Amino acid sequence: MTTSPLTEPALDRPDLFIDGRWVAPSGGALTDVIEAATETVLGAAASASSSDVDRAVAAARRALPGWRATPPADRADLLDAFAAQLKTRAKSTAALSSRENGMPIALSIGVNGYAPSMMVSYYADLLRRADTDDVRPSTLGTRTVVRHESVGVVAAITPWNYPQSLAAMKLAPALAAGCTVVLKPSPETALDAYVFADAALAAGLPDGVLNIVPGGRETGAHLVEHAGVDKVAFTGSTAAGRAIGEVCGRLLRPVTLELGGKSASIVSADADLDHFTSHLAEVSLVNNGQTCHACTRILAPRSRYDEVVDAVGSTVAGLTIGDPLDRSTQVGPLVTRAQRDRVLDYIEIGRDAGHRLVTGGGAPDSRDTGWFVSPTVFADVDNSARLAQEEVFGPVLTITPYADDDEAVAIANDSPYGLGGSVWTSDEEHGIAIADRIETGTIGVNHYALDLAAPFGGVKESGLGRELGPEGLTPYLRTKSIYL
Ligand code: NAD
Repeated sequence: MTTSPLTEPALDRPDLFIDGRWVAPSGGALTDVIEAATETVLGAAASASSSDVDRAVAAARRALPGWRATPPADRADLLDAFAAQLKTRAKSTAALSSRENGMPIALSIGVNGYAPSMMVSYYADLLRRADTDDVRPSTLGTRTVVRHESVGVVAAITPWNYPQSLAAMKLAPALAAGCTVVLKPSPETALDAYVFADAALAAGLPDGVLNIVPGGRETGAHLVEHAGVDKVAFTGSTAAGRAIGEVCGRLLRPVTLELGGKSASIVSADADLDHFTSHLAEVSLVNNGQTCHACTRILAPRSRYDEVVDAVGSTVAGLTIGDPLDRSTQVGPLVTRAQRDRVLDYIEIGRDAGHRLVTGGGAPDSRDTGWFVSPTVFADVDNSARLAQEEVFGPVLTITPYADDDEAVAIANDSPYGLGGSVWTSDEEHGIAIADRIETGTIGVNHYALDLAAPFGGVKESGLGRELGPEGLTPYLRTKSIYL
């Protein structure tokens, strides 16, 4: 592997962040982070061993009593300082994340750049307004104090696709609740995780409140099982989530699991197709299709089937594929060679199954380097096909016809997953009525975008629990009833 001419020495992060200090990994291990668009080394990050995880958990345990006892208003002030530090770094964080995972910069500036500071500020505000205790009249005629106290040490494990947002969705409520955190980011995007350490140091977060230990699956597994961990917050694949859920079940350890998806866009017969196609890229192909809530199954009414197929095909064929750091790019490269090959295999599965290829169908000729896949659409896909049932995690869409609302709802619900979804209609009430019938944790009417103030999460194999909104704070709190 050659080194990118763009690589700056500052991109190397050879240390772990433990107890407020930079600590060399015990085995001295480093993992290269490869730039998705150039296939060259962007920088090297420390890789934590089991003993490093032990040190990080010990630091988080030591810091817990002090942080838990810090008055909420003081914790909120420190979180505001943390948010301000993240915000000053937003542009460089967004660019770094895009270079790591190929996300178009126009998207990255929001989700990797500014969203983390917004989430930290949101939970700081919530903390100022929340009642930590309430005193209730008891059924025995006395009183009971119900305290909401932090659940303890949190293991936060995150994937590479939205590395900053998905970490902040855990760090922000956990720190607000008075928990201390050990964050284990994905090795593919380990470099950007250090921005949280830089910001924590600059903001004066107490030592040990936030610890960062990049590493692979074994590092994560050791952290999940660790006796010093009180709660696990995980985002990633359903397979890994199932394994983590089994461990937490055995240990009776609270766990939040944000997993995979295969969401449907239901295009109603009365939909405004121009409106639908103007949102198609952000709803169905966002982050090059590497998005858990992407609506990758398009359900089209038989009465307008050809029209929908043509509109989707021409919109997707017209997307701009390019350098993720170019603001006009709509589709960048996939995160790794393995991910690109996996997506190309799924395209072959679609061809072999005899689905009609509308556009795309392989790697674009225009790009010699970078793990690009042309955005691809298959039509006439029965919902039982592998391409409609399995999460591809790349820019591959299917179109399936339906006869009426009942059939559209049945097809949308015929999935092991239930994370996102969308309904496109000129009648909002009709859209809400359909949304009510979909088995999913979130769904949009005439658009799809996460709301930081509302709970996000899945049903069925898309996971357990919720993040964001006031509901996102609850998993980091436990109650204690004091009977007076
Ligand atoms: P992954 O499950 O392979 O890895 C995710 C993280 O978990 C990484 O940090 C990895 O090192 C760690 N890990 C893997 N196995 C582990 C184990 N047994 N114990 C502890 N840690 C373990 O997922 P990925 O390929 O990095 O991410 C893509 C997946 O994430 C997709 O399936 C996608 O749908 C899902 N995802 C879900 C959401 C959501 O909010 N529901 C958001 C983004 C991504």
